[in-house]
Amino acid sequence: MTARRAPGSRDARGARSRDRVRGRRIGIFGGTFDPPHHGHLALAEWARVELALDQVWFVPAGEPPHKRGAAQSPVRHRLAMTRLATRGNPEFRVSTLECRRPGPSYTVDTVRALARAHPGARLHLLMGADTYATFGSWREPEAIARAAALVVALRAGVRRGARTSASGRRVTWLANPVLEVSSSALRARAARGFSLRYLVPDAVARYIARHRLYRPARARGAGGRPRPRAARQPRA
Ligand code: ATP
Repeated sequence: MTARRAPGSRDARGARSRDRVRGRRIGIFGGTFDPPHHGHLALAEWARVELALDQVWFVPAGEPPHKRGAAQSPVRHRLAMTRLATRGNPEFRVSTLECRRPGPSYTVDTVRALARAHPGARLHLLMGADTYATFGSWREPEAIARAAALVVALRAGVRRGARTSASGRRVTWLANPVLEVSSSALRARAARGFSLRYLVPDAVARYIARHRLYRPARARGAGGRPRPRAARQPRA
């Protein structure tokens, strides 16, 4: 017998959310999202339509294992920007799972946790071809491929691979238009005070300008804190 839950309680909300996703097709899209850009959004929407996904969950990494040692914006900024970027799409959601989990954000832990929390949901792991090229070196790649269908988007300069890998893993390759935007190129533009308009959603560009993200340290004021508003803002 199922214990009764108080309406509105955390458990009740969890149960309702599980019921809502049972049998549904869910895209999981992990990334650093520093910042999220139109390449990410276009990939997610293309996959949603092509694979008839009910929802796409963006999962910002707390501590991306493949980018350890590289400086990242604090997770609160990356999460806030991901929320702003996805705000206008009712089928997009943002998961804080990896942001809340201490230590490196391994995808295998994420797909296992989501599969446990949402039994019956059909999980699809979305990624670009550049990321898929490194998939064999991830932690427990075959366990990931068992828990979620792999969906790979084309990227410039990376060749489309086989539908079945040497180890028998099945992959769906999207025939998406290639939009060669990358977070690293955008950070470099922002560092020089250049506009990110039309490359990231307007709300994300405004957020970057307001918080002076990606500016060289001397442009941000002491201790990395933003300077008073009167200082020059990057053109967003
Ligand atoms: P960086 O330039 O800092 O490495 P990025 O732009 O690749 O960042 P990430 O957050 O690291 O962004 O990527 C998350 C996922 O989105 C990865 O699977 C990556 O392959 C994919 N991706 C990133 N940019 C694009 C793009 N322009 N088109 C399609 N997929 C993309």
